[in-house]
Amino acid sequence: MAGANGKRHDIVIVGAGPGGYVAAIRAAQLGFDVGIVEKEATLGGTCVRVGCIPSKALLESSFNYQEAKTGFAAHGVKTRVELDLAAMQARREKVVKQNTDGVAYLMKKNGVAVYRGTGKLLPERRVEVSGAAPVTLEAEHVVLAMGSVVTELKGVSVDGTTVVTSTEALTFDSVPERLVVIGAGYIGLELGSVWARLGSKVTVLEYLDRILPGMDLEIAKEAQKALTKQGIEFLLGARVTGVEVKKGVARVQVDGAEPVEADKVLVAVGRRPNTAGMGLEEAGVELDERGRVNVDEGFRTTAEGVYAIGDLIHGPMLAHKAEDDGVALMERLKGIPTKVHYHLVPGVAYTEPEVATVGATEEQLKEEGTPYRKGMFPFSANGRARALGHTDGRVKVLAHQETDRILGVHVIGPRAGELIAEAVIAMTFGASSEDLARTTFAHPTLSEVVKEAALAVDGRALHS
Ligand code: NAD
Repeated sequence: MAGANGKRHDIVIVGAGPGGYVAAIRAAQLGFDVGIVEKEATLGGTCVRVGCIPSKALLESSFNYQEAKTGFAAHGVKTRVELDLAAMQARREKVVKQNTDGVAYLMKKNGVAVYRGTGKLLPERRVEVSGAAPVTLEAEHVVLAMGSVVTELKGVSVDGTTVVTSTEALTFDSVPERLVVIGAGYIGLELGSVWARLGSKVTVLEYLDRILPGMDLEIAKEAQKALTKQGIEFLLGARVTGVEVKKGVARVQVDGAEPVEADKVLVAVGRRPNTAGMGLEEAGVELDERGRVNVDEGFRTTAEGVYAIGDLIHGPMLAHKAEDDGVALMERLKGIPTKVHYHLVPGVAYTEPEVATVGATEEQLKEEGTPYRKGMFPFSANGRARALGHTDGRVKVLAHQETDRILGVHVIGPRAGELIAEAVIAMTFGASSEDLARTTFAHPTLSEVVKEAALAVDGRALHS
């Protein structure tokens, strides 16, 4: 039993993002009594409130605007196009609300107790919740799922108006004339695309000599070419050292190069685990050298009965990975031996064309000395892509030279984010490129490009 000011649950989860809320649902399904603590007014975490979901809403809207302006004519559709940014932003808010309300509904439906307030870990599996209704919770198992926060850049202070993070860049109420994006990762390219489509002159400053670090290089280069064609300018090898704002105009300093002027600057140089102010150290939870919570393969931290998942721990900082961590942890607590296949977590950049990846890149295979065969096939040779009018891009399949097991699949092209699922399923079942090549895909579909790339591994693509 909990103390006078306390409530007891089997499991208390701190953070209601995709990691935490999905863990709560699975825990409830397994018969646990669950409480979840959230400091924001709505549930869903960064992803649902100010990340994945609102950015996808704006990407879709801005894509439609762009298509109406430049793509419809080829279909014989004549339009006069005018941007109503207020309506576009209202739609984004509505989409977010549908999703945050959806999470609240799921908590209710599953009987999960929701505590509003900021959680702090106390020793002995207790969580103090401060806020309008302070309470101390006790649990058999405490799950840390606080996610991540934006990484600051030395010399750059975010003021939320001229120099912003992705949160503010989602809510601009006018189209900035000149937008500088620092960082050519997922956030930089997705939000850079949104504002470039709506009329901003976008310049992306990237420290490395390539964009989309972690993605297959050949595919990333093709993405850079496509985005450059859309008017986005890239300065690679550009290390930003500071930003000066005077009268609403920013001067972005770049090491060894001329400063770049902008009306808005988006800082998108990564995210870091959200561990500060949580009382972790005092409660005996150790961090690793990169500031992530140290966990073993059962998600156990160094404090008895305390676990961590998602962006707080090792692995890619992606919503779907956090969800799978949460499910695996709850099943393990129930005695079901579940594990996450971290090497098969797909990544998708929702640019145009989309870029999607799973498994090893060609660079990784070369570095490891793994012998491989490679098959590629372009969307330009696919009937459905031609009918859609979106033929940029290709699929690349990498398979082991001797066993033919698929080691990596990389896609740039229309709906790449959906197509990659075929590869993830195949790889999860240990498929060979021959298995994929012998699978029947409906004609005409974009997925035939995946099949053709698998055939190309053995030099027998049919339509090239
Ligand atoms: P990221 O790690 O994807 O990219 C950050 C980029 O900034 C890197 O290319 C890095 O080299 C560059 N950089 C770092 N310091 C720099 C400097 N001083 N000057 C210039 N460039 C610099 O990070 P992100 O785009 O901020 O995204 C954060 C996290 O959110 C990522 O972990 C990502 O997984 C996740 N996310 C995923 C999606 C998606 O799945 N579609 C979308 C948005 C965000």
